[in-house]
Amino acid sequence: MSFTMRFTVIAAAIGATLGFCGLAQAQSNELNLYSARHYPTDEALYSGFTQATGIKINRVDADDAGILARLKAEGTASPADVILLVDAARLWRADVDGLFQPVRSKVLEDAVPAHLRSKVADGGGFSWYGLSTRARIVVYDKVKVNKTDVDTYEKLADPQNKGKLCIRSGSHPYNLSLFGAMTEHLGAEKAQAWLQGLVANMARPPKGGDTDQIKGVASGECGIAVTNSYYMARLMRSTNPADRAIAEKVGVVFPNQSSWGTHMNVAGGAVARHAKNRDNAVKFLEYLVSPAAQNHFANGNNEWPVAKGVKLDNPALRAMGGADFKSELLPISVVGMNQVKVQQMLDRVDFK
Ligand code: FE
Repeated sequence: MSFTMRFTVIAAAIGATLGFCGLAQAQSNELNLYSARHYPTDEALYSGFTQATGIKINRVDADDAGILARLKAEGTASPADVILLVDAARLWRADVDGLFQPVRSKVLEDAVPAHLRSKVADGGGFSWYGLSTRARIVVYDKVKVNKTDVDTYEKLADPQNKGKLCIRSGSHPYNLSLFGAMTEHLGAEKAQAWLQGLVANMARPPKGGDTDQIKGVASGECGIAVTNSYYMARLMRSTNPADRAIAEKVGVVFPNQSSWGTHMNVAGGAVARHAKNRDNAVKFLEYLVSPAAQNHFANGNNEWPVAKGVKLDNPALRAMGGADFKSELLPISVVGMNQVKVQQMLDRVDFK
């Protein structure tokens, strides 16, 4: 190779390196977000982050299962930097499947209570953090059902509630997490008997989402329903009078106030295993536990903030009794871990 040729090759290599650096720099003002949060009010959260940091967010929306499948299919080539999922069982699954990388952040660890994070990762840090919580509450027909007959999850399986219960599919993540928590509280044998009792008490086979169960109570088809709290709050705060009329017909219970407290699920975030913009991803998660973002979770989507010291300022949640209630303090990662066992129990008792 002549000197000139060798110089050209070296120059090209340097050029390529510089080119790559240029690209990396351009990317550092961006963040690729895979989000399962299906709440239109979250737009304000994302634009708030971009305004505060200058980092542009490219968002891919899918449900929890869709995001997990996509991350697995993409492997090391995945452009995902940060992932938001809306359920403890899914966060646990994604973690076990190696789709996250651990993060050490004083900001996140100070803000998020220990029971609302993943287990400690190998080598320290946490692989995901809860960012907001939602209660799995019971609603009931105020005319036909006494509040005291539905004030614990256990009572939903009581023979006195036969033919009254409406609930979405047992294998939906929101139910897998509730049932995973019940398995932790009752032990597997009693939990399975409880699930059998739920099946025996159903007013109809499981169908629809949580809002459909609330509507079933309002229409008289169901006496009792199980729902995430924000669906109820959304009806209460709706600008549509028909939605508010539905909400007015049903009573709300935060179950198990005299025992372990109402089951809480989390929506949470994690840095993707193969994140190219890791620093931006951590910055984004830290932004989501800031008072402004936490306030948004509470007021925009009717969830509860996880960060200590952020106070609840949401009329619907307060009207429901959600300003001061006893919530379950189980480590949320344990709840996710039980989901395989729960699915087997559901099959055994024929809970669709
Ligand atoms: Fe939801």
